[in-house]
Amino acid sequence: MNLKHNMERWTIEDSADLYQIREWGAGYFGISEKGDVVVTPLRDKSVSVSLPEIISGIVARGYDMPMLLRFEDILDSQITQLHESFRSAIARFDYKGQYKGVYPIKVNQQKQVIETITRIGKFYHHGLEAGSKAELIAALTFLEDKEACLVCNGYKDREFIDLGLFACKMGFKCFFVLEMPGELDLILERSKALGIKPLLGVRFKLSTQAGGHWTESGGDRSIFGLTISQVIETIEKLKEAGMLDCLQLLHYHLGSQIPNIRDIRASIQEACRVYAGLVLEGAAMGYFDLGGGLAVDYDGSHTNYMNSRNYTLDEYCADMIEAIMEILSEYNIAHPTIITESGRATVAYYSVLLFNIFDTSSIDTDSVPEELPENTPEIILNMLEVLKSLNVRNLQECYNDALYYRDEIRQMFKIGDLTMRQRALGDKIFWKIIQALIEGVKDLKFVPKDLMDIETALCDTYYANFSVFQSLPDSWAIGHLFPVMPVHRLAEKPERNAILADITCDCDGKIDRFIDKQGMRRALKLHTIREDEEYYLGVFLVGAYQETLGDLHNLLGDTNVVSIRVHEDGNYSFVREIEGDSVADVLSYVEYDPKDMTKQFRATAEQAVRENLITPRERREIMNMYEEGLRGYPYFEPYRS
Ligand SMILES: *Cc1c(COP(=O)(O)O)cnc(C)c1O
Repeated sequence: MNLKHNMERWTIEDSADLYQIREWGAGYFGISEKGDVVVTPLRDKSVSVSLPEIISGIVARGYDMPMLLRFEDILDSQITQLHESFRSAIARFDYKGQYKGVYPIKVNQQKQVIETITRIGKFYHHGLEAGSKAELIAALTFLEDKEACLVCNGYKDREFIDLGLFACKMGFKCFFVLEMPGELDLILERSKALGIKPLLGVRFKLSTQAGGHWTESGGDRSIFGLTISQVIETIEKLKEAGMLDCLQLLHYHLGSQIPNIRDIRASIQEACRVYAGLVLEGAAMGYFDLGGGLAVDYDGSHTNYMNSRNYTLDEYCADMIEAIMEILSEYNIAHPTIITESGRATVAYYSVLLFNIFDTSSIDTDSVPEELPENTPEIILNMLEVLKSLNVRNLQECYNDALYYRDEIRQMFKIGDLTMRQRALGDKIFWKIIQALIEGVKDLKFVPKDLMDIETALCDTYYANFSVFQSLPDSWAIGHLFPVMPVHRLAEKPERNAILADITCDCDGKIDRFIDKQGMRRALKLHTIREDEEYYLGVFLVGAYQETLGDLHNLLGDTNVVSIRVHEDGNYSFVREIEGDSVADVLSYVEYDPKDMTKQFRATAEQAVRENLITPRERREIMNMYEEGLRGYPYFEPYRS
């Protein structure tokens, strides 16, 4: 192959196209002249920082891969964009109400996220949404802005309600959203007992259903929210108690990651009718909370595929404002304050997972011997004949024959008619045929359907130093696609087709589906690993839902985390470093006591000394290793001699 020629032709533009970084990068991620992934989180797009440079800085400080990088400036930027988009739609349509966002804490509960959002959000009165007592307590601590909304969803017990009522008394705009019919009684009882009037909302169960992964959160089958008759019962109860003035908010939530704008519009229409109905019933109202659902374009396709969205943020805001105005104008009702609960879109871009590749394996296609042994069985000679006869005109036929002989060979091995070496020889010839087919289809104008994906049959496995279960739970659990790509060497042509195996050794611990303009790819183009150099990949847009949903499968714990703030002059500082779990940490999560363990193992080693299996000096060495192992990082650590 003319490698040099290929290298000259390949440019960073080709890499940008291949990995579609411009399509999903949302202006935050790009490729430098040198071929490095760069991050441009500030409004000034001439300021960028290089991921490989950040990595080498962090590694030099003694942190190992995998690692989560967080860019605080991206959070700032996302919050700002959300509000600016709503502001401009409000101005354009002359909407008379305001927009106030809230951030649903469950999407990423890290203290840093809450701190940053409340700090940046102050300017826009961006509030928080809490779905549990713990989240409410966190929200009350960080939300200083009394004009921002604090929306309480989720099941509320007495403690939750009392805390929320006192928050109201302290001046917080703390709404209890009724999720179930029974909740109201307890709220009314506690309100009376404490002498504090609540701010109330109802969550309405829409009949409109949207497409996407999480659609069961909306629609008739959704477990949350009140049906239309339960809404009416609530009104009756409030009337009876003389507290209809407390009912000020209508909420619905369609589900997360709604890829199609038509579903979003359809749901607003239905909800607007309910809003108008509540006003006509005499409820105070004034707040219209449209929930989450604003999607992230993970695959960059700008379509209504599950991992994408067919609208821009500006279109989303404009459609909402327009739809609300249109319907409410029929009733001549005052324009409400609009609340949205965007979580995913707010935080997804802010985290990048980085890891190195510590090994690769590929299928051997080079070592079919020139001369076959004399007693080579007929079936293997037949396979070899397929290879010899292969040409542009008979590719499909050769493919069929190769599959046939391969299956026969496997069968014969099973019943003992072929030896291990004979089967290995058959395998080698088979893969040689596949390789020839891959070369062959390149010259075809019309590729037969069976051979369309043939290239990915001969895929390498790249062993990646991270755990899917810990760091990308949605990839494993629901087949969610995140953009994955190398963070350097992008001026070089990636020659290998690969899938990624993680470090858990679980057969589900892999990534073998990748984003593509046309839906999905079964392999990722990667570079050949160099002996003397680490190869780093990044998984992008992982800031939403991944961090705390992750688990301890195979006892691989939290990764190292470094947060970065970029300065106007292009320098950056590490604003926060969080060391990942040690082996001792993860063991203690599952109730081992590292101290006891050490004691126990010391005794085992002493016994080995008594039995003359090891020397006392060796015992010392083994104990050192053991204790160092406990202190170490559970992931694949580089060998430092
Ligand atoms: C999870 C959740 C959200 C967040 O939705 P996104 O699609 O991530 O923006 C908002 N509201 C409620 C009630 C939720 O449960």
